[in-house]
Amino acid sequence: MIQICEIQPDFFCEPCKDCGARPVLKQEKGLFSVICPTNPKHYSTKPGLVDINDWNIKNKKHSGFVDASPIKKAS
Ligand SMILES: [Zn+2]
Repeated sequence: MIQICEIQPDFFCEPCKDCGARPVLKQEKGLFSVICPTNPKHYSTKPGLVDINDWNIKNKKHSGFVDASPIKKAS
């Protein structure tokens, strides 16, 4: 049995990086994952404990790891 519940509003959650939706919690067999409510193909955390932190890291647009856009302008 799968249950979907809203994350309490006082938790800070990044919006889904693909569609901008606020994530929801999915509970299945006692395991939680943070998922995108609009599309199951968007990022979701691994089933287990509620890991909003992991969701936030993966859905940050300004990730420290990826910096492919050259901002420098030739002067
Ligand atoms: Zn999404």
